[in-house]
Amino acid sequence: MNDTVDVLFISAHPDDTELSAGGTAAKFVKDGLRIGIVDLTRGEMGTRGTPQTRKREAASAAKALGAAFRQQLDFGDGNLQTGRAQELEIVEILRLRRPRIVITPYPDERHPDHARTGRVVTEASFYAGLKSLKTGLPAHRPQTVVYYLQNYMFPPTFVVDVTKTWKTKMRAVAAYKSQFHDPKSKEPATFIADPKFLDMIDARGKHFGALIGVAYGEAFITKQPPKLEDVIGAYSGREVS
Ligand SMILES: [Zn+2]
Repeated sequence: MNDTVDVLFISAHPDDTELSAGGTAAKFVKDGLRIGIVDLTRGEMGTRGTPQTRKREAASAAKALGAAFRQQLDFGDGNLQTGRAQELEIVEILRLRRPRIVITPYPDERHPDHARTGRVVTEASFYAGLKSLKTGLPAHRPQTVVYYLQNYMFPPTFVVDVTKTWKTKMRAVAAYKSQFHDPKSKEPATFIADPKFLDMIDARGKHFGALIGVAYGEAFITKQPPKLEDVIGAYSGREVS
């Protein structure tokens, strides 16, 4: 069995990857790359649905995106723990999956679970490369950690054109039937179950798309700039503004 992936998404809650980077995940798969998703919690603090329904929904969302695997850890939704034990759990996953790129929340985020995820994943990605840190598996350090945007907005380092995979992303989001708007649902109303929430996701995709002159985009931040081979191509289809 091939355990390795090209790109590993590590998020706090099931649905974070889909909402912030689902179009990019689907694009990697469309381009023939292997991706995996790790959720650090089971989303057990969600107002609607149960951890069991969320687990089923997360599995079908991963399938919609074409992920090679999805794994859920139990760091504690609503009070995500990030001590050495959790760091080492992530180190072992990174050494097994050997991703070239890790994608995770930006550490400066409104929800502390997201912020903690961004921090622990960044630190574990470094430690995973230390040969003197002995675990059961050989050391591996990803090329970089890329951050997706959630509630707080920051100027992106780059925007991915996800026009061709936007529908796939929204199919994956729709797999979380218990979480998002369903006119027939008898579950309590929440911020994300309001129809305006999915309108906002659509508007954000269009906004980031407009920044690079395409229909839909997803924005990312990195601490070091990306190497651009094709500067002209990177700005194609646009005029000075
Ligand atoms: Zn979340």
